[in-house]
Amino acid sequence: MAIKVNKKTCIGCGACVQTCPEVFEMEDSGKAKVKAQKDLPCVKSAIEECPVDAISK
Ligand code: SF4
Repeated sequence: MAIKVNKKTCIGCGACVQTCPEVFEMEDSGKAKVKAQKDLPCVKSAIEECPVDAISK
């Protein structure tokens, strides 16, 4: 299991970081990245909330 953010698709809206800050953070490029591979319930929420479906696991 690996949580991934597709950097090509991510529009940098920040929703995943708001929803699941233990797993996602914004990087300097303005895109989200995975900072910790933790299979928390909020990962599922972030996947559902991402407007461009950039998160997978
Ligand atoms: S919710 Fe999706 S589009 Fe928004 S920052 Fe996270 S990965 Fe990128």
